[in-house]
Amino acid sequence: MTTQDLFGAEPNGTPDSDQQRVATLRALLHRYAHQYYVLDTPSVPDAEYDRLFQELQALEAAYPEWVTQDSPTQRVGGQPLEQFASVRHAVAMLSIRTETDTQASGAVNFDARVRKELGLMESDPPVEYVAELKFDGLAMSLRYENGVLVQAATRGDGETGEDVTQNIRTIGQIPLKLPEAVPTVLEVRGEVYMRRDDFDALNARQRERIARGDKGEKTFVNPRNAAAGAVRQLDPAIAADRPLSFFAYGVGEVTPVLHGGPEFGSHYALLQALKMWGFPVAEQVEIAQGAPDLVAYHERTGRLRDDLPFDIDGVVYKVNSLALQRQLGFVTREPRWAVAHKYPAQEQMTTVVSIEVQVGRTGKLTPVAKLAPVFVGGVTVTNATLHNEDEARRKDVRVGDTVIVRRAGDVIPEVVSVVMPDPSEAVLETPKLRGEVFTMPKLCPVCGSVALREEGEADYRCTGGLFCSAQRKQSILHFAQRRAVEVEGLGDKLVDQLVDAGLVHTLADLYRLGLTALAGLDRMAGKSAQNVLEALQKSKQTTLTRFLFGLGIRHVGEATAKALARHFGTLDAIMDASADELLAVADVGPVVAQSIRTFFEQVHNREVVAQLRACGVVWEEGAPTVVARLPLAGKTFVLTGTFPALSREQAKELLEAAGAKVAGSVSKKTDYVVAGSDAGSKLTKAQELGIAVLDEAAMLVLLQGEPDGDS
Ligand code: NAD
Repeated sequence: MTTQDLFGAEPNGTPDSDQQRVATLRALLHRYAHQYYVLDTPSVPDAEYDRLFQELQALEAAYPEWVTQDSPTQRVGGQPLEQFASVRHAVAMLSIRTETDTQASGAVNFDARVRKELGLMESDPPVEYVAELKFDGLAMSLRYENGVLVQAATRGDGETGEDVTQNIRTIGQIPLKLPEAVPTVLEVRGEVYMRRDDFDALNARQRERIARGDKGEKTFVNPRNAAAGAVRQLDPAIAADRPLSFFAYGVGEVTPVLHGGPEFGSHYALLQALKMWGFPVAEQVEIAQGAPDLVAYHERTGRLRDDLPFDIDGVVYKVNSLALQRQLGFVTREPRWAVAHKYPAQEQMTTVVSIEVQVGRTGKLTPVAKLAPVFVGGVTVTNATLHNEDEARRKDVRVGDTVIVRRAGDVIPEVVSVVMPDPSEAVLETPKLRGEVFTMPKLCPVCGSVALREEGEADYRCTGGLFCSAQRKQSILHFAQRRAVEVEGLGDKLVDQLVDAGLVHTLADLYRLGLTALAGLDRMAGKSAQNVLEALQKSKQTTLTRFLFGLGIRHVGEATAKALARHFGTLDAIMDASADELLAVADVGPVVAQSIRTFFEQVHNREVVAQLRACGVVWEEGAPTVVARLPLAGKTFVLTGTFPALSREQAKELLEAAGAKVAGSVSKKTDYVVAGSDAGSKLTKAQELGIAVLDEAAMLVLLQGEPDGDS
């Protein structure tokens, strides 16, 4: 789905129609750029803007006589807002050419262009580059005079930006005063951005404000938008409420040009000097020799992308030698010595074909938008969650709408917003009539039981319990998954058939299946049926943790199941534990304790457990552990990097055996980060939060240690 499909206007290659297309593209790009740069409310995904931009660039290359000064391809950014004082940049703030090819060849093309411009032969040595992250925020110029921050300005149209000094002063990472030996005038260029965790916390606060009825509050679509909105706030108090961060990546005016001290012969040296003067410079800055190193950096960073604490939309390559940079120079809006090499977009446009309500294992009803297939975040997406009724209504997603879908990392794809055609634009067709406003069904769409929304909860739940075949199917899939008892080959298609054919009502029915019944199912040859039976047989030998997790007790995830198993040793002890006894387990709070009690108070749940045991499901039971004696009880660890002696899994097991919890990400609740070689963003975050960092040896010492008084 593209804007072109949406709004018609197909180029047919004749000069007349191409000229019309150029006009259409310029109108659309001007509108999108205004929404993005000036209003901070983009209406289409970046990928769509980039696609139209590149189409216009290609047409202008074919018909150079049509290029006008005000074409979006000739201009940087957007007009500054009038509410701010204007700042004329001493050195223009340009854009960076985007390499259209997101594959390795993108880096190769750039290197080939640079070599050609510099007149290098094949036999000449590789060009040296600096490879950096392309932060997804907004460009900022910080002007220091005699070491004091005197002005902060946005890029604006590249020549003139907005004076946002008051707001920028609220960013703790930006030094207000520099050490003695800096140039008299120093303009630092960099990116203001919002970390993902800060963004999530801000949106959570915004939702609370909206719920309270505060006027004029809204949630933000992505961290870039939230950052841009905060920087261009007229009220610095509001800007201060929106946590921003900064990375430096270059300079503007520098007077006098430095002699002695850090030598500004290369871009890399410049970054080191910025770091020395107290500016945050990303740790992922690397020197690269020629295209192969650039390709490797692009690939490595692509794998790292989802684990970074902030958004990037690509990497940037810059020729390292400043002398060569000067030799290469600029074209209208961009330097020839740098290029942005992007990753596949994490946001794309598509249409909503229908909205279905899915029923989860615990009866939770989730509205899901069924989409026209779209390639986003590296995969083809056909479903996107709308989370719950409030979210679906807030975003006002309706059947037939064009929407922006986001898929970042392994996160479930979601609908970000609806793309509303603007009827005032001449390029648009008559707007289509929209579908009905979404409402949550009052009955479960699968079993017809009443669906209820509890006080203070965002979700509706089907009250059918295991009577509801959807919940039954999900419970079986949960029990059979790899992390629970693991029944290989028991996937959703087979579970659908087993439940729909009435062969399986409870978990124990799985172990009563015979070869004839299984082989009689659709697409189930004798051999596959035999394999499933063998997998079921194998799954009977399990562990208490896996079994407990597999039961699907609400709020009992793997970690809690493990803590319960270790604490009590036997299933009977857990089933009969009082709420107080459950609360003594490190991982268990009142809500979890109550949930466990409620589960085992239900006769039919105890019955299922008894039946499973009768069918031969067994595990080794142990003696209860006195948690208080474990040296690391109550402590949370995060592991990062490669350790000299232990594998991560071994380290995790040792820590857990000593009563510690091992978490996947660093937060204020983390007590220790154990860092090996190649430790990345988790280590940085630990340092930022002032969390104790250990190496493997120090962790082993701690494992021997005496319990703390407070654990
Ligand atoms: P750009 O993002 O393509 O490249 C230049 C900018 O990159 C710089 O100004 C700087 O802010 C940033 N940057 C990040 N890391 C950097 C680093 N390490 N070194 C140097 N610069 C770094 O900027 P642009 O010219 O504003 O290009 C347009 C971008 O904005 C595109 O991604 C486009 O999709 C998006 N856009 C979207 C819409 C929309 O409607 N969705 C509209 C206009 C623009």
